[in-house]
Amino acid sequence: MRKKIIILGVTGSIGKGTLDVIRENRDIFEISAISAHNSSEALINISNEFDPILVLSGRDSNDTKITYSGIGSIIKMLENTEADIVVNGIAGSDGLMPSVTSLLSGKNLALANKETIVMAGKLIMNLAGNLGKKIIPVDSEHSAIFHLLENRDPDSVEEIILTASGGPFRLLPLDNFNKITLEDSLKHPTWAMGRKITIDSATMANKGLEVIEAHELFLLPGDKIKVLIHPESRVHSLIRTTDASMFAQISDPDMRIPIGNALFYPQLITSSFGKLDLTDQSLTFFKADFQKYPLLKSAYKTIDAGGAYPLAFNAANEIAVEYFINKKINFLEISNIVFNILQDDWSIKPGSFNEVIETDLLVRKKTINYIEKQVRK
Ligand code: MG
Repeated sequence: MRKKIIILGVTGSIGKGTLDVIRENRDIFEISAISAHNSSEALINISNEFDPILVLSGRDSNDTKITYSGIGSIIKMLENTEADIVVNGIAGSDGLMPSVTSLLSGKNLALANKETIVMAGKLIMNLAGNLGKKIIPVDSEHSAIFHLLENRDPDSVEEIILTASGGPFRLLPLDNFNKITLEDSLKHPTWAMGRKITIDSATMANKGLEVIEAHELFLLPGDKIKVLIHPESRVHSLIRTTDASMFAQISDPDMRIPIGNALFYPQLITSSFGKLDLTDQSLTFFKADFQKYPLLKSAYKTIDAGGAYPLAFNAANEIAVEYFINKKINFLEISNIVFNILQDDWSIKPGSFNEVIETDLLVRKKTINYIEKQVRK
């Protein structure tokens, strides 16, 4: 019996990588369903190759080939479709409820949507635990650490170290940050990804979200999660054990490795993707400068503050980045907006996924209000 896979966000970089892994392993996997936000053409092209159920989530469709469309379509499909694993490659906070429904409908989760964990870490980890379902991280750093921690006594792990490329402004002096344009920010040195996450890599809000994600996934306090800038993006993360040894996962930056390992889990993928020749390669590491990347520092603070602070960090940043992508605010204003929103009291602990979504909407409203009234004067 082949493993049945559902791919959410099939037209994004995670979706495309997942299709590649499945193409190489068609005797092991089959695709039950795929979703795209807006591109019905892309869905139909893929359906000619794999024949899955098609979901167009961003708008209603009359096309008879598309089984589910519009608001609530992903949730309905998940409830009515059998599968072993859901690959959640949806961008942003829209990914949360599909993650919840995947688990509730009896599927394991290959999770590339870090917002699921940042917004509702404890709730979703408890839900998976109670249902006996697995959340396997697909984010390259967390995939690396997840596999490095497998079969290891948690007490023997002193710290984990997430690597970061440093984004396009690693070498730009701080004094010039006020001149950064949208176009500059969209040039990621190593990974080709969507616009939101590329901007988040330039501000390192992405690494901040990943620190929060690691805190929830691996149950580690903030001071045991370190960040190192590693411009070559070959070492995807490391762990340090109590005997002072370090273990790393090293490969070419190719998302098909973490995707494949999530699909094959608990086996390792057998593939030639991302095979790295280390001959004559130099791997360098630098300290992450909190002055240049203030959002990384605030992410750590949200872990200590607890409650809905991580959620507020994510939602305020998502709104600010949207304004930046629409060229309505400048680069430095992204972090200032997030700081301002984090000054409010977000100590409440949402007790359900509905409360998470309500709080998330509240943060968004406050952020939009603040930007319209205070920033865009
Ligand atoms: Mg990552």
